[in-house]
Amino acid sequence: MDPLERAVGRDLAATPAVAKDDPRPRTGRLIDDDTHEAKSPDIGDLASRLRFYLPDGHIWLDTQRVALIHLSTLNALRYELIDALGLREARGFLTRMGYASGSRDAAVARKLYPQGTAREAFLFGLRLRTLQGVAVVDPVRLDLDIPTGRFLAEFVWRESFEVDGHLPVYGLSHSPVCWMQVGYLCGYASSFTGRTILFREVECRSSGSRICKVIGKPVEEWHGAEDDIEPLQPEAFANRFADRAKASPSAAVVPGLVGASSGFVAACHLLKKVAKTDATVLFLGETGVGKEVFARTLHDISRRAGKPFVAINCAAIPENLVEAELFGVDRGAYTGATESRPGRFERANGGTLFLDEIGTLSLTAQTKLLRAIQQREVERVGSTSARPVDIRLVAATNVELKEAVKAGTFREDLFYRLNIFPIVIPPLRDRRADIPLLIDHFLRGFCRRHGKDIKGFTERAVSVLYEYDYPGNIRELENIIERAVIMAEGGDQPIDLCDLFAGETTPADPMLRIGRSGNLERKDEGVDHDSPVFSAFLDQLLAGKISLEDMEEGLMREAVNRSRGNLSRAARLLGVTRPKLAYKLKNPKGPPL
Ligand code: ZN
Repeated sequence: MDPLERAVGRDLAATPAVAKDDPRPRTGRLIDDDTHEAKSPDIGDLASRLRFYLPDGHIWLDTQRVALIHLSTLNALRYELIDALGLREARGFLTRMGYASGSRDAAVARKLYPQGTAREAFLFGLRLRTLQGVAVVDPVRLDLDIPTGRFLAEFVWRESFEVDGHLPVYGLSHSPVCWMQVGYLCGYASSFTGRTILFREVECRSSGSRICKVIGKPVEEWHGAEDDIEPLQPEAFANRFADRAKASPSAAVVPGLVGASSGFVAACHLLKKVAKTDATVLFLGETGVGKEVFARTLHDISRRAGKPFVAINCAAIPENLVEAELFGVDRGAYTGATESRPGRFERANGGTLFLDEIGTLSLTAQTKLLRAIQQREVERVGSTSARPVDIRLVAATNVELKEAVKAGTFREDLFYRLNIFPIVIPPLRDRRADIPLLIDHFLRGFCRRHGKDIKGFTERAVSVLYEYDYPGNIRELENIIERAVIMAEGGDQPIDLCDLFAGETTPADPMLRIGRSGNLERKDEGVDHDSPVFSAFLDQLLAGKISLEDMEEGLMREAVNRSRGNLSRAARLLGVTRPKLAYKLKNPKGPPL
């Protein structure tokens, strides 16, 4: 039998049986066919997550679509990158590529082996690398404790396609060349633990060693790791790793840009390009993606850095005050204008003016804004003379301005004035590789701010945070982490699910809960009955002959455990009242919850 067919034989044969509309494999615990008990997965179970759906030409690895690429093609890409960009840039590019796939695989590993310890699941997931045909990663040492944030790893591998591609063309190398593999391990370990973990290749076959060997530790435990950090940072200004070391208790929680995903890298690249010029920049993206942080960074890396950065949220100013806010007022302009004051344009003179939510400006305000931009001067309300202003204009919007132009609510000429250099910032759910970095970043920032000492998160909290879709984007994640830091006990106690979602419900921020599918969901949303996780759960329930009473009791016990005995929290997790839960715990044979 052909080796590929042997590895995935069961699934090649089973392909026609897979549902037409969702060829992705179902997830959930592995159940032994004979004993109906949960069993430890092996490489064959991992291989069974690789599915070929031939009618559409799709290959799925768990819930991710993948493609087979010839190693010779990957190596050719490597040569071209080195030729076009030089060794340093090429290394950065390939390391980040590895980082992104490692981050995705960490999510797969956690899901495939939920019954294992974190250490078991971590090592099990490393075998995805074998399944992908990249390398057999042998663990020499792994000291992993997610709740206390402890991490120390030493891995080796013998075969490396990167070395095999590098040696014949470039000969023996002074420095290690397994760039994608090292990036992969950084992404895998960081996403798995919710901490920023850095791997360094301390021996590489490309330098004459017999094997390749890496050491992995949390980034702040490395000394002199600038060279290792550099390839993971797309641009020097997005120094998410470096800012860790110099963070002081008073440092802001959001000092700069944090991320490593391809969407983030692309936006940073554009930012760097345009920063050198004075061109107007328009940031596009959903609410909460960090448009103001991007705008501020743009200012900081531009030649206007020493001058003012003035930000204004257009949606926050009442219609009748817009003109006075933007352009200023002269004394006596209207009743109550007892003093002259400059507007935001004047205050930003020489620097950058950032107009957030520009799509909310009224047509009258748009007309005045357009005139100020075109003539580079402003007239204060009540004044007859114009004052020249020298500003760089940066705007942001979460609405489709083109559609607004069509609908007649946004001036077309203003749109073209603003849309000179648009930069799209992708929503957080499309840049999941950034989630672990952001979690780590916010945790440290809020611990400093609130004077808490919290080491980390439980494994299931990391997992749930990684899977959630974040309709409110980075701001929502930030709020969740801040709330958790306030709620958590601290000390040796890591942040758990009940800390993440025990906040009070408000209309603007509906409370989240862990759905029965194991994912986060809004409280007002029901269970997704079509989700593969939910149906796998039902299969297991029916196959395992678990009675409804057993399930109810199990759920209550788990909720109480997760809430560390706090009944109010446990009741919130279950979506019932505290008295009801208390009664049911005392009277297990009573009416169902
Ligand atoms: Zn190597």
